[in-house]
Amino acid sequence: MRVVETVDQIRAIRQTLGGTIALVPTMGAIHDGHRRLIEAARTDADRVWVSIFVNPTQFGAGEDYDSYPRPIDSDLDACRAAGADLAFCPTASQMYPPDATACQVTVPDLATVLEGEHRPGHFDGVCLVVAKLLNIIQPHVACFGQKDYQQLRVIEAMVDDLLMPVRISGIPTVREADGLAMSSRNAYLTEDQRRHATALYKALTEARRLVEDAGESDPTAVESAMRHVMEAHHFDVDYAALRHPRTLQPLDCIEPRLTHGVIALTAARLGDVRLIDNMLLGAVASQNDNTESKSADAA
Ligand code: AMP
Repeated sequence: MRVVETVDQIRAIRQTLGGTIALVPTMGAIHDGHRRLIEAARTDADRVWVSIFVNPTQFGAGEDYDSYPRPIDSDLDACRAAGADLAFCPTASQMYPPDATACQVTVPDLATVLEGEHRPGHFDGVCLVVAKLLNIIQPHVACFGQKDYQQLRVIEAMVDDLLMPVRISGIPTVREADGLAMSSRNAYLTEDQRRHATALYKALTEARRLVEDAGESDPTAVESAMRHVMEAHHFDVDYAALRHPRTLQPLDCIEPRLTHGVIALTAARLGDVRLIDNMLLGAVASQNDNTESKSADAA
């Protein structure tokens, strides 16, 4: 596996290559969720390139940019073992040269709800860095996790609107045996917090039960039930929401036939650790389940 640190170098390599390339953008601290993306990318293209870059522009003031884990040696080993052909690990000044104009990429409607309300500007930073990576690398496909469902929708919209010549592939969420979605931020949890963290998944499976089995049609009833499960496990809930899976807008009622499905999304804090998760419910979910667990059913 080649390791490349500069934009000039990776552009030069890219120009000499034929065949197809799948890009897996990451911020490192590689875990089984990232590994799954790399493996899925392998089935999509001749070569798999992983980027490892903790992107400063997607962190707000007071967030964990400085403390975000950066275990670069073990990350490179993990990418190599998962079958990546190249790792692109630029410095911040490679991606954001000091003399660059402060260009912005904004997807207003999708990026200002949910995470966007709690992390203003977050998706502008995500869009900017992903647009740069796509321009530098020009992959045929780029793989993103459904774990960050809103991010996936924002990037799909950016790529569509800007007519970018790349296919976006959404990969199911990889979970621990008790249902907790894998995340680099899980490493921040104390033993006690880790025990409670599974409540995020429990809240989502409760939403699934209410919508799919009990036929609940009132989104606010489901949202309250999700919130209740999390609060019982000491979470401070930022949001517990049922939304339209494409627009992420609120629903007046959950239609009984669930033709388009419903996305349940949540973000909540245990102490200083903020976790997010989501689950597709209904028709879409049963055709294309967005969850993959180490055990058969972790509920
Ligand atoms: P990150 O390093 O957190 O920016 O994540 C890089 C990519 O991995 C993003 O597309 C995430 O959605 C994806 N990802 C993170 N955690 C998981 C997971 N548990 N399952 C599947 N994909 C994930």
